[in-house]
Amino acid sequence: MTPALLVKMPRVLLVAAQLTALAALSPAQAADTPPAGAAPETVVLKAAHLFDSTGTQLKNGSIVVVRGERIVSVGGAAPAGARVIDLGDATLLPGFIDAHTHLTLELEKDYYHSVYTRMMRFPAEQALYAALYARRTLEAGFTTVRNLGAWDFVDVGLRNGINAGVAEGPRILTAVHGIGSPGGHFDNYSFPPDRVKPWGPIEGICSGADQCREAVRYQMKWGADVIKIAASGGVLSEADPVDVPQLTSEEMSAIVSEAHKWKRKVAAHCHGDAAARLAIEAGVDSIEHGSFLTEDTLKLMKAKGVYLVPTRMAAYWVSKMADTYPPQIAAKARAAAAAHGTMFKAAMRIGVPIAFGTDAGVYPHGMNAMEFGLMTELGMSPAAALLAGTRDAAKLLGVQADVGTLEAGKARRTSWRYRATC
Ligand SMILES: [Zn+2]
Repeated sequence: MTPALLVKMPRVLLVAAQLTALAALSPAQAADTPPAGAAPETVVLKAAHLFDSTGTQLKNGSIVVVRGERIVSVGGAAPAGARVIDLGDATLLPGFIDAHTHLTLELEKDYYHSVYTRMMRFPAEQALYAALYARRTLEAGFTTVRNLGAWDFVDVGLRNGINAGVAEGPRILTAVHGIGSPGGHFDNYSFPPDRVKPWGPIEGICSGADQCREAVRYQMKWGADVIKIAASGGVLSEADPVDVPQLTSEEMSAIVSEAHKWKRKVAAHCHGDAAARLAIEAGVDSIEHGSFLTEDTLKLMKAKGVYLVPTRMAAYWVSKMADTYPPQIAAKARAAAAAHGTMFKAAMRIGVPIAFGTDAGVYPHGMNAMEFGLMTELGMSPAAALLAGTRDAAKLLGVQADVGTLEAGKARRTSWRYRATC
């Protein structure tokens, strides 16, 4: 499979919302960073092309001027005395946003060995892997991610460590534990309860509106920026059907009202159509995957402004890997992947808002940008795919004041190496 977009833009270089260009500076270049307290240096990024994500135009011969933590201007002339970094025949773009990642894990080729590894690794050990995955994601051009579900608070630690400058990775909005029903897609493997403690609201597993409200409160207590629910079953879990509802409308309404009170958005993992209807009526902000959604449900999403985060990459990967999965999971993978393309085309035709998301961790971290190619193969224009991965994903995440377009006032992502010299 060829990611068509990246073939057209062989030297994509990302700035902006988060300035990965500075991450590429050599230690000698980084060392001339002004010391703390000094006036911030003005840096001009110059390249042959610019896609600022404020529209669909590819512009020629433009510059981005950055001072301190913000973009000062886009276009015009370089200010006198500024340091100019000439990137030649590159394209300046806002940092990409992946609205659906699992930065704290990566599935192995052997499904049951993955289960064993997830059970046996200590949280501190897993955090070292998470830091590696975060760095790979940043180096792949993704400067902001929404992390939708993790164990052992490794996601919270990773986000905090990156924010403190002790690890290198994208800006992270994280969900802590995904919230779902006992026996559902987010519950632990079906170990006998006298050997492995069954999960409860602390781990995101709940029954009834009160317990589900409690589960949301716990995730927010520990630092959730967003709430994730399992509205329907999933592919990579053994016990549940892929498409049936796994939370009641009362449970989902309790979750959404509690999350929205705290100004947290709710992302609903959902393959099945009936489950999606319940989730949309309950007020979720996005449907993740959406494999079996009907046109009526997609129209309802458009009417209510609910985003689709299609995760084409997950559909592509699980169908490619299906032969290696246990038979009941392989059957779910094939059924979901077979339905997904038709749903995606219908969503585009109907005009459902689409935000870029990949389910990274289901496939190896760092391949996120293949999603652009998978979407354009199904008829999305390259410009629309870029907007889904920048401006539109920023809106879904609620971070559009800082990231998503190249405009004056938007934030720069200071790299770990750059910060370490300050
Ligand atoms: Zn996921």
